[in-house]
Amino acid sequence: MTKIFIANWKMNKSRAEAAEFFSRFSVHMQSDAPVSGARVIVCPPYLALDTFAHFQESLSGVELGAQNVHGAKSGAFTGEVSVPMLAELNVSAVILGHSERYQHFGETPENVRARATAALEGGLTAVVCVGEREADYRAGRSEEVVLDMLRRSLPPPSTHGIGSLVIAYEPVWAIGTGLAATAEVAQSIHAAIRGELKEQLGDAVGEALPILYGGSVTPDNIAGYTAERDIAGALVGGASLDPDKFFDLITRGSKR
Ligand code: PEP
Repeated sequence: MTKIFIANWKMNKSRAEAAEFFSRFSVHMQSDAPVSGARVIVCPPYLALDTFAHFQESLSGVELGAQNVHGAKSGAFTGEVSVPMLAELNVSAVILGHSERYQHFGETPENVRARATAALEGGLTAVVCVGEREADYRAGRSEEVVLDMLRRSLPPPSTHGIGSLVIAYEPVWAIGTGLAATAEVAQSIHAAIRGELKEQLGDAVGEALPILYGGSVTPDNIAGYTAERDIAGALVGGASLDPDKFFDLITRGSKR
């Protein structure tokens, strides 16, 4: 299976800093061959999305992603951005339901479902995040919490483009903390997610959908995750801000 590596820059980098990243990253992508089998998606803040256009030729294998999107095509939703607006900028993927959206902006699994459905129907790859908080992890309730969140945020099986869904398992306690889940712990949750996807969406779709791990992934630990059966790659925050580090991570994570 093609490995997927998604850079989530969060609210970091000005347009000038984004250009600097793309420029250095393109040098790696052009000169170092071993990542040709990987799918690489970079998600800058909205205002730096169109900066990518200047590098499209030198970054031809790299996709552009956004960090959120609204479920409606247009309307009275101050501060929001729609799927057609992203598509106009050649955005091909969007992260939905990141834990920071739940924590700081009141998102719910139900509105993540609406947003993910609109993204898929508009032709985007929808990356739906799920993950338990530290208290649930400590109480041994990770699987239960994650599967409940997944059931509530999954788009309906009849959604056009459902095959372009990606799930990201991101334990909240591992995001930005340096306390990454072990590959074994992540794999066991991924296997449970896989089982639920098959139940909800049918065996063929459920077996094919990529499930990514996110939470303090670095060049040093990535290979442990991608060696696992149900871990198709990573959603990367901090380690994606430096082009050399992110490229190193992709290289190590896509080696067989
Ligand atoms: C994230 O923001 O989705 C994330 C996993 O962050 P970090 O890699 O910094 O833990």
